[in-house]
Amino acid sequence: MRDLFAGVTRFQQRKYPELRSRFEQLANGQQPDALFITCSDSRVDPALLTDCQPGELFVIRNAGNIIGRQGEADLGIAATIEYAVNALQVPQIIVCGHTKCGAMAGLLDPDSTSSLPEVSKWVSTARKALEAIPQDETTDRLTQVVQANIRLQLCNLMTFPAVADAVEARRLTLKGWLYDFETGTVSVLTPETEQFSQPVAQTV
Ligand SMILES: [Zn+2]
Repeated sequence: MRDLFAGVTRFQQRKYPELRSRFEQLANGQQPDALFITCSDSRVDPALLTDCQPGELFVIRNAGNIIGRQGEADLGIAATIEYAVNALQVPQIIVCGHTKCGAMAGLLDPDSTSSLPEVSKWVSTARKALEAIPQDETTDRLTQVVQANIRLQLCNLMTFPAVADAVEARRLTLKGWLYDFETGTVSVLTPETEQFSQPVAQTV
C-alpha cells in the first residue's frame, strides 16, 4: 500500500505555498462556479478535467453519478444540492458521466453486481436509464446507458424545488457532460436534440 501521507508532505512543501494566497482569500467564503456531480471513479478528476482551482467546484460524487428524485434521494445528496443552489447560489449544475463506468455496467448486467447487494440496490434506482436505451446489441450499450443516465439525472434534479425554482428564475443552468478519460474529451448534451456532441475546441 502506498503511503499517501508522503503526498501530503509534498503538497505542503511544494503546492501549498503556491496556493497560500488563494486559500487565505477562500477563508472569507467560497463562490464556486458550479455544482459538479460525477462518479466516484478514480479515473475521473473534476478539477483536473475542467482545469479548475480550489474554490471553483462544489462536488457531489457517488458510484454512477446518481441523484434520484426528490424524496427518494439520499439525504446527503438532497442537502448538498440545496446548499449549493440556495446558499452558494451556483450558476450551473453539471452532471458528468464517464465512459467505462462500472456502476452503469452493473445496471446493464445485474449479474456483475450480484455479490454487491448495496451496489445492486443503488444502481437499480437508475433503471429508467436502462429502459430508455434501444435493445440493440450491436451498439455500445454501456455508453448509451451512461448517456441515458445523465439525461435521467438531469430530469431528477428538476424534481428538487430549489433547482426547479432557480432554473425558472433563470439563475441556474443544468448541463450534461460525458467524459471520455481515454481521450480526455468531453461531449456535451444539447437539450433540444438530447444528443451528445463534442464542442469545437477553442484555443484558450
Ligand atoms: Zn463510474
